[in-house]
Amino acid sequence: MSIYQSIQDFISLALQNGTIEPLDELYHRNQLLHFLGLNDWAEVDKEAHEKDSLILMDQLLAIANENNVIEKGQDEFYEAALMNFITPRPSKINHDFWEKYKTSPDVATQYFYELAQQVNQVKTRDIARNIAFSHLTKYGKLEITINLSKPEKDPKAIAAAKLVKASSYPACQLCLENEGFYGIGNKPARSNHRIIQVSINGEDWGFQYSPYAYFNEHSILLNAKHQPMEINKRAFDNLLGFLDQFPDYMIGSNADLPIVGGSILTHDHYQAGRYEFPMAKAELREEIKLQHFPEVSCGIVNWPMSVLRLSSKNQVELSKAADELLKKWQVYSDESLQIKAKSADGKLHHTITPIARIREGKYELDLVLRDNNTSEIYPDGIFHPHPALHHIKKENIGLIEVMGLAILPARLKTELLEVEKYLLNQENEMSEIHKPWAEELKKTEYFSKETVHEIVQGAVGEVFEQVLKDAGVFKDNEVGQKGFYEFINFVNNKFS
Ligand SMILES: [Zn+2]
Repeated sequence: MSIYQSIQDFISLALQNGTIEPLDELYHRNQLLHFLGLNDWAEVDKEAHEKDSLILMDQLLAIANENNVIEKGQDEFYEAALMNFITPRPSKINHDFWEKYKTSPDVATQYFYELAQQVNQVKTRDIARNIAFSHLTKYGKLEITINLSKPEKDPKAIAAAKLVKASSYPACQLCLENEGFYGIGNKPARSNHRIIQVSINGEDWGFQYSPYAYFNEHSILLNAKHQPMEINKRAFDNLLGFLDQFPDYMIGSNADLPIVGGSILTHDHYQAGRYEFPMAKAELREEIKLQHFPEVSCGIVNWPMSVLRLSSKNQVELSKAADELLKKWQVYSDESLQIKAKSADGKLHHTITPIARIREGKYELDLVLRDNNTSEIYPDGIFHPHPALHHIKKENIGLIEVMGLAILPARLKTELLEVEKYLLNQENEMSEIHKPWAEELKKTEYFSKETVHEIVQGAVGEVFEQVLKDAGVFKDNEVGQKGFYEFINFVNNKFS
């Protein structure tokens, strides 16, 4: 394949997806030639030979490498900037998105999602590397992903990042100012990123797909302002307001406190997508009557964490009920269960991880009660994976895990293989951190070459189930459930 044919095919993609118009073609070619370190051209077939954008990306990157135009450690930035040549401008994408939206929200999101994959903003190849399996529990099927999609930074890139002068622009990874940002140091490559501007309850937000998606059409809603996460009535209204515009998506927010929140608390954002999580499939364990909100039905979800599911056709009442529950939870303590709203220094410890969806014509809000207290025995968090589970998972239990999808660290890919060897009494390099767990498994299971892989995956699933139990404030046992009812009684009494 001639290099010029690859370039021509790449330009054909740009023409097809509306990045350029026929009048721009010569201009675009010349810009691209320079970018690839070329200054010559030979006419080739106008009919595209290759239509796969990622295959063309590989071919063009090979040309660039041959011409030595990619600076050391800058591959990631160069690659995104290359894909920018086939990414329409924000104004064009926003215009087309909202035109298609007039037909239906689905037509609009499908357009944007396909485009995001074509230009490698959603990194489908990297995502495909993840290892995924499921584990059946009494709460339903939990899902487990060993996250291999974020490539390890190569040492050259790390070295280059160290030399970069610190800058506060963009203020963080979630700021809208990242759109089209070339990237430098640890600030990711965003040349090919595009954001749809959305208005929710009068506030400006940006909607984009997550580069390393954990679930179908995993998207992020970013506040136009760099301001901290906050779970309050406004957040509930925003989640429900988003559903009015995108009724087929679910949307949730990480909690707004350390330990129980996500990794970025400094920039207000939510996560959405077209996906039914295990928790959404879980049914109600019991119905609860909310005295002050007759139009809102409520129940305890059959889930290892403590979840109240509110449902109503009346969005205003639903949001008010959620707000009341939040405010009551923020001041509620039950010292017998180590649940403490406020510590002596005045720090508040209670918040909620909320998830919203529309089901059978009603708005639904799952409110997951969170408590971020620590103790001498559990310095990382009382309602956080306990130390015995840290060999599998020690990171925060954020929104995605709460909903029953474990995102486990990449190290487990090789570590679990060593555990398997150990269980088969083969020579192995199993890390010491897995030994107590592996010893326990040896006591209860018989392992053969045929079964060991599946048994280990099942055991990882059990660990994840226990992780969720540890994160639950009212445990799924008699004492815990009694505590849950006492909280509900507290909710049903008016504030004194
Ligand atoms: Zn920011």
